[in-house]
Amino acid sequence: MTTAVSHRQSAQPHMTVMVPAYNEEKNIAKTLQNIRQDLQQMSPNWDIVVVDDGSRDQTSLVVQSLVEECRVTLVKFSRNFGKENAISAGLTYAKGEIVICMDADGQHASDLMYTMLEKWREGYDMVYAVRQDREQESPFKLWGSRLFYRMMSSSTHVEIPRDAGDFRLMDRKVVDALCALPERNRFMKGIYAWVGYKSIGIPYTPLPRLHGESAYSKLKLIALAWTGITSFSVLPLRLASLTGATLAILAFAYGLLVVIDALFFHESVPGWPTVVASMMFLSGVQLLFIGVLGEYLARVYDEVKGRPPYIVAEVVTPAPSADSR
Ligand code: UDP
Ligand code: MG
Repeated sequence: MTTAVSHRQSAQPHMTVMVPAYNEEKNIAKTLQNIRQDLQQMSPNWDIVVVDDGSRDQTSLVVQSLVEECRVTLVKFSRNFGKENAISAGLTYAKGEIVICMDADGQHASDLMYTMLEKWREGYDMVYAVRQDREQESPFKLWGSRLFYRMMSSSTHVEIPRDAGDFRLMDRKVVDALCALPERNRFMKGIYAWVGYKSIGIPYTPLPRLHGESAYSKLKLIALAWTGITSFSVLPLRLASLTGATLAILAFAYGLLVVIDALFFHESVPGWPTVVASMMFLSGVQLLFIGVLGEYLARVYDEVKGRPPYIVAEVVTPAPSADSR
C-alpha cells in the first residue's frame, strides 16, 4: 500500500476527463476550455472524452471544432440514451490512469480537480464531490432526495454517499471494475458505491448552469429514483410480502369472527358495506403489488433481452500527433 501511495506521489498520471453532453451547444466550448486549462496545469498527459448523447442541437459540431485543441475523443450516440448510459460509454472510451467525470453545463467547477488529484495521491481510488447547497433547493428536491437516501440506506447493504453525484475522480482499477459490470439498467450512483474501493468525499457547491435548463424534470427525477430503488434493493417486494401477510392474517381473523358470529349469535348476515369495503381495499392492494412485481419483471426482461445499453454512431479522435505530444 505504501509503495502504491509513494508511486502516486511522484507520478504524472494520464488524466482523462469524461463529459456527457445532451443539447449543450452553448456550454460545451467554455466547459472544455476550462477543463483543458486545468488539466494542462496538472499533468502533461491528458485528454478529454465527450459523449454526445444524441443531442438535437449543434453540440457535436462545436466539439468537433475543438477535437485537436482540447484532445477530445468525441463519441456520438445514435440517439438519446440518457446520462447514465452516456457515462458508461465515456468510461469505456477513457484511457487515463485517472478518469474524472464532469457535467457539460459548467456546474462542476473544473478547479476541484486539483483537490481530487491530491486525494488520489494520498491513496484514494475514488474521490467524489458532495453538494453543499441542498438547503437552498426546492422542497420537492430536498425532501425527495432525503426520502430516497433513507429508503436506500434502510434497504440495501450498499452504502450510497448522500448528495454525491457523478462529479468524481476514479482510479483506473475503479473504472475497469465499473466497465466489467454486465448490467444494462445502470444506476450509476449505486454502481459507484457497489464496486467499493477506498473512497472519500470532498465538499463543493455547484455553480449555476451556464445556459439552458436542466434535462431532469420532476418526473424524470422520480423515474431515476425508482430505477435506483428497484435496481439496488428488494424493499418494494419485501413490503409487498409483508403487507400481504399482515392482510391475510387480519382477513383470516375477521373471517373466523364472522363465522363464529353467524353460527352462534346472529341468524342473518348483514354487513354489505364491510364486504364491499374490504374487497375494494384488498383488490387495490393486490393490484398495487402486482404492479411492483411487474416493475421487477420488466427489469429482468430488459436484462434478458441482452440489448446493448447504447449504440455508438460515430467516434471522432484527434490526429495521432496531437495525442502523443
Ligand atoms: N445529460 C446527458 N443525457 C441526458 C441528460 C443530460 O448526457 O439525457 C448530461 C447533460 O448534458 C449534463 C449532465 O448530463 O452534462 C447533467 O445534466 P443536467 O444539467 O440536465 O442535470 P442536473 O444538473 O440538473 O443534474
Ligand atoms: Mg446541470
